[in-house]
Amino acid sequence: MHRFRISGGPAEAQYRRSGLLIIFSGLLTATAITLALSGPLRVGATDRLFLLLMVVKNALFLAWLWRRPQLFQLIGGIELTGEIVAGLYRMQQVLLVDHTAHGLSGYSYWLALPYLVASLVLPTHAALLVSAVQLTGLAVLGGLYWADPLVADSVRQDSANAWLQMLLMHSAFLAVITLQQHLRRRYALNLVEAERRAALALRDSLTGLPNRRALQTWLDAQREGCSVVYLDIDHFKRVNDVHGHDVGDSVLRHVAGQARQCVRQGDQAGRWGGEEFLLLIQGDAQVASRVAERLRAQLRAERHPVAGVVTVSCGVAQAHPGESADALLRRADRALYAAKRAGRDTVEVAV
Ligand code: GH3
Ligand code: MG
Ligand code: MG
Repeated sequence: MHRFRISGGPAEAQYRRSGLLIIFSGLLTATAITLALSGPLRVGATDRLFLLLMVVKNALFLAWLWRRPQLFQLIGGIELTGEIVAGLYRMQQVLLVDHTAHGLSGYSYWLALPYLVASLVLPTHAALLVSAVQLTGLAVLGGLYWADPLVADSVRQDSANAWLQMLLMHSAFLAVITLQQHLRRRYALNLVEAERRAALALRDSLTGLPNRRALQTWLDAQREGCSVVYLDIDHFKRVNDVHGHDVGDSVLRHVAGQARQCVRQGDQAGRWGGEEFLLLIQGDAQVASRVAERLRAQLRAERHPVAGVVTVSCGVAQAHPGESADALLRRADRALYAAKRAGRDTVEVAV
């Protein structure tokens, strides 16, 4: 079953489902029009019955796919098998049993459709394989027809030319479909890669938290009704000096983890730079202070395995209406400075 899995994510699956829906709508329209015109076109009674069945089949498949879009590979696979088997059987009948070359002209135009359906319901290689089976089948039928002694020479040459043109056109069509599928796949991969890089550009690589750029974007986008907590690890230089830079990095990750845990959904915690972090809290200064106090309590409860208890000083500022992001941060920074001067491991609220 793995070989039939289509890569490329939900956008690719959506594209393929939509393509198949369009094909079934087209088939329904085409068979209905042909049936409606079957009188003037002098379609025989058997063929008319067959057309009617096709109209019903196309309507049912269209409704089925509409109701159960996730089954598009199954629905398309049944359609594909039916088209190829019916197509080859019909052509075999026309060429080798009835010897009526004019049978080529109407039905044969639809023989190109399975290539398109295959490209929608199967991964590239499987689609190419199935398409090659039909193309080979058609080529073999053409060869058998050419060698058939029961066919009149004049008819043989005319229909052989039509047959050759059809096979050439099918080959060109198949090549274009395959190329287009290949390009779309490459485009999808590029898109995934671009999204991955864009996400990376907004993450701090040491802590995994949103970085300064991400925080700045959020600050620029929305400050109304929000407060910021500007926090700075106390005596962090000492951690580096006593335990080394690696332990310092580990302490930064420790604080980042606690900060991430203590903010609620909709709030943001990020690394502003160095050993400074910023929390963006939806709510007034009181709400933000409570978050900061929660973080302080958590840091006291969760000791770092090497550095022991890590403390932070916090400056809280609630956004004033119309205040710029810079002005808000300046006030938070001043509150942080006050917290440091007050002896560290404390929360100060800006006026
Ligand atoms: P205070 O309580 O006044 O904040 O004292 P402090 O020692 O925390 O403040 P200071 O600003 O003097 O020191 C910050 C230190 O943080 C200096 C710098 O080497 C260190 N630092 C900044 N970024 C990193 C980092 O990514 N990893 C490590 N290990 N250390 C860092
Ligand atoms: Mg600092
Ligand atoms: Mg510090």
